[in-house]
Amino acid sequence: MPDRYILAIDQGTTSSRAALVDEQGTIVAMGQRELPQYYPRAGWVEHDPEEIWASCIAAIEDALQAAGARPSDIAAIGIANQRETVVVWERSTGAPLARAIVWQDRRTADLCDELRAEGAEPLVRKATGLTLDPYFSATKLAWLLREQPELRRRAEAGEVAAGTVDSWLIWKLTGGRVHATDYSNASRTALFHIGRGRWHEGLCNLFGVPPAMLPHTQPSASRFGFTDPEVLGARVAITGVAGDQQAALIGQMCLHPGQAKNTYGTGAFLLAPAGKRPPLPENGLLLSVGAAATDSAPDYVLEGSVLVAGAAIQWLRDQLGIIASADEVEALAAAVPDTEGVTFVPAFAGLGTPHWDPHARGLIVGITRGTTRAHLARAALEAIAFSVAELLDAFATALPKPIAELRADGGAARNDLLLQLQADLAGVPVVRPVQTETTALGAAFLAGVGNGLYTSLDEVAALWRPDRTFEPKMTAEEREEHRARWRRAVERARGWAASG
Ligand code: ADP
Repeated sequence: MPDRYILAIDQGTTSSRAALVDEQGTIVAMGQRELPQYYPRAGWVEHDPEEIWASCIAAIEDALQAAGARPSDIAAIGIANQRETVVVWERSTGAPLARAIVWQDRRTADLCDELRAEGAEPLVRKATGLTLDPYFSATKLAWLLREQPELRRRAEAGEVAAGTVDSWLIWKLTGGRVHATDYSNASRTALFHIGRGRWHEGLCNLFGVPPAMLPHTQPSASRFGFTDPEVLGARVAITGVAGDQQAALIGQMCLHPGQAKNTYGTGAFLLAPAGKRPPLPENGLLLSVGAAATDSAPDYVLEGSVLVAGAAIQWLRDQLGIIASADEVEALAAAVPDTEGVTFVPAFAGLGTPHWDPHARGLIVGITRGTTRAHLARAALEAIAFSVAELLDAFATALPKPIAELRADGGAARNDLLLQLQADLAGVPVVRPVQTETTALGAAFLAGVGNGLYTSLDEVAALWRPDRTFEPKMTAEEREEHRARWRRAVERARGWAASG
């Protein structure tokens, strides 16, 4: 297909991107549109489903224009999306019935506490591989249905469709013909039995979600349907769909145990293939379905989540004003050889893996009269590296094979100093690939497998190229000294809001 591309849609939290990818896995053109964020109350985060859709269409048009291509030049479509966020809409018209509740939204914390008090957590953990936390979709849907009795009535009557963002985009792209999601996205809802590969009746009951609302589920690399020519200007097959982190794992070509990637974005997400029959992990790690899963071959991924990573750099820029752009943080932090003991725990929204402490709050400790903004900048980068090093520790006890190298991507991975600190503080080599748009690439590769362009993901693995490797340079004693300092600071940050 010399002039035919795979269109990858990467619908993220803060923007929607579209990439045209050729057969060699090269991104030929990209389009990107920002997505408005709504914060109606403290801890609430919403998106407008129509704006999600409009931003995707605009990004696709931008990419086509940049490549001088037409919709008929698209051979197949792959979708990667922000996970857990829920959309509800009317089946008869396709009209959204509420704002989308975004993964970061904490409004269901009380509902989670109630369910925990009723003893629901072990069932959730065992069936879904997740924890009982507002992060996942189930309590978000439960909240909408509780708040709007009319919505519940209509949902029970089969008039309402619900799903994660992928299912909303599939619905729109197919002109309302298909209501489907893939296993990797379904596995982040807390309504899906990851061992059996289907919606869990008991969990639907527990959360009060009528199964009639939920989409059909199928493997990531499979045919979901065809676009409506009225919508896209051509009839194109959608053949790849995955949650963004699972898609990035494919884009980084981490297909086998021992491989792992970390995405340094707003938060940080470390994922590793966990094989075909993994036990339920401990240490606050999550178990989800990977994008390589088929109906005959299961695929699981282990995941650790850092809730605040690049967002700490945004905080230095927007709240403290000590840098004008995120890129400035590297030179500022490099102006000092170390933080002189200053330690920053950016637990703005609690702590994720391994702590899962919603009551932790941020702190900066070790400040002296000589502390400068350069020390703070360096402490912020160290904080990201320390947090990810903690994830790696958690993985070490959960994986059959140790992680030999960490593949890095995401907006903050362009920071060389951060990746060197990561290698030093975790004691593993960190590799940044040539192509860091790994989420879009993963979606494109899945779509390529789904439409038969590639016979398997292993075939595309050769398309991955390293750009730069950061080797650990710190001695083991030095590393342990720094890590001990971080652990002491984290202890002081924990439980802060609860005891205050
Ligand atoms: P997301 O997909 O979560 O919106 P991106 O992968 O686009 O995030 O990365 C953006 C994040 O990376 C922001 O939080 C920003 O502060 C951070 N960032 C961008 N450039 C740098 C840099 N040079 N050094 C450190 N952090 C950076």
